[in-house]
Amino acid sequence: MTQRQEEMLGSFKKKDVICILCPKGCPLTVAGQDKKGNPKITGAECKEGKEYALQEITDPRRVITTSIVVTGGRLPLASVRTSVAIPKDTVLPCLEEIRKVTLGAPIHIGDIIVPDVLGTGANIIATRDVAATQ
Ligand code: SF4
Repeated sequence: MTQRQEEMLGSFKKKDVICILCPKGCPLTVAGQDKKGNPKITGAECKEGKEYALQEITDPRRVITTSIVVTGGRLPLASVRTSVAIPKDTVLPCLEEIRKVTLGAPIHIGDIIVPDVLGTGANIIATRDVAATQ
């Protein structure tokens, strides 16, 4: 457990989280800490679920998926996503930053559209090809 996670755990008593890592959707509860200072997490059917719950209550992150307008392409939009999950509180500011971008075709899968978006360490990358019209 990181220092940040330890600090965050000390600031609340109980939190419920639905695990989204697999279709089971286990209802998880994080409530306090045991004698060793580890968080008490119940409801998880696997180790990954416990790690997810800890991450979700201490440093929630999301992968953004969206589209960007393309000019001169065979499609009007190119789908994009963040290369890694970004802090949840940066999702809306990053979407606003992405909305300012217009691309010129051709676009190739994996192209870095916006490097290190808003200093999050994540690149915005293309997730589909858009060929040029000519
Ligand atoms: S805790 Fe494990 S089994 Fe349950 S939803 Fe999460 S990943 Fe799936």
